[in-house]
Amino acid sequence: MNDKDYTTDTEKDIKKGRRTIQRIGIMGGTFNPIHFGHLVTAQEALGQFNLDKVIFIPTGDPPHKVGKDIASSEDRYLMTVIATASDKNFLVSRIETDRKGKSYTIDTVRELRKIYGTDATLYFITGADAILEILAWKNTEEIVSLCKFIAATRPGYNLSRMKGLEKKLFNSKNNKGEKIFVMEVPALAISSTDIRNRVKNNRPISYLLPGGVRSYILKHGLYG
Ligand code: NAP
Repeated sequence: MNDKDYTTDTEKDIKKGRRTIQRIGIMGGTFNPIHFGHLVTAQEALGQFNLDKVIFIPTGDPPHKVGKDIASSEDRYLMTVIATASDKNFLVSRIETDRKGKSYTIDTVRELRKIYGTDATLYFITGADAILEILAWKNTEEIVSLCKFIAATRPGYNLSRMKGLEKKLFNSKNNKGEKIFVMEVPALAISSTDIRNRVKNNRPISYLLPGGVRSYILKHGLYG
């Protein structure tokens, strides 16, 4: 599947010259598995940041999860498609599922820049704990120059480390005034780790994630 194949209302408007600039949410995550916390995060970002669409990008081979209990990239991609199928503003990309080698965010953001052009505003949306590690990611400075960040937090999250990170990231002349947008999402009390543990211990997972994703997990014996 190619990101260029999707035509939303905004893209139609752009073609007709009614609108020029797109605001795209890039929802990055391992989604192992995807749950309602992720979906509420995407929905909140869409509304709060007036985004035209949110593209979910399940990681292919995450460099920071070597040797961890992780479902295959194809299973995580398919669960993400199932979870988002009924929402016209949510799309799922295979960029990282299909790319060979480790999934580095810089490669993904570069590809999306090529597709959407230099005028589009790209917002990389992910968990605050993931963003706090961004200095250890590949080509951090370039990523920061290509997109803005939305950090989703659970309620009561201590924001002091995020402020410290902003100071380190945005201290050059080019990036002055930039910030990481923090978005509190109560539904993030749900976590993929808890869901995996529940499956392992034969505890219920209904109401934590879409029914179709639950059925997929049980049908394919994931996390057991
Ligand atoms: P993670 O370390 O597993 O997640 C950290 C926290 O953030 C967890 O609490 C997680 O909750 C939450 N989270 C993850 N994605 C989220 C999302 N989209 N919305 C809301 N909460 C989210 O992080 P990860 O999922 O593996 O990676 C996050 C993103 O960072 C991915 O796009 C990944 O490719 C990128 N990343 C890039 C590099 C690199 O380029 N070198 C390195 C690390 C991460 P759940 O466990 O419930 O999801």
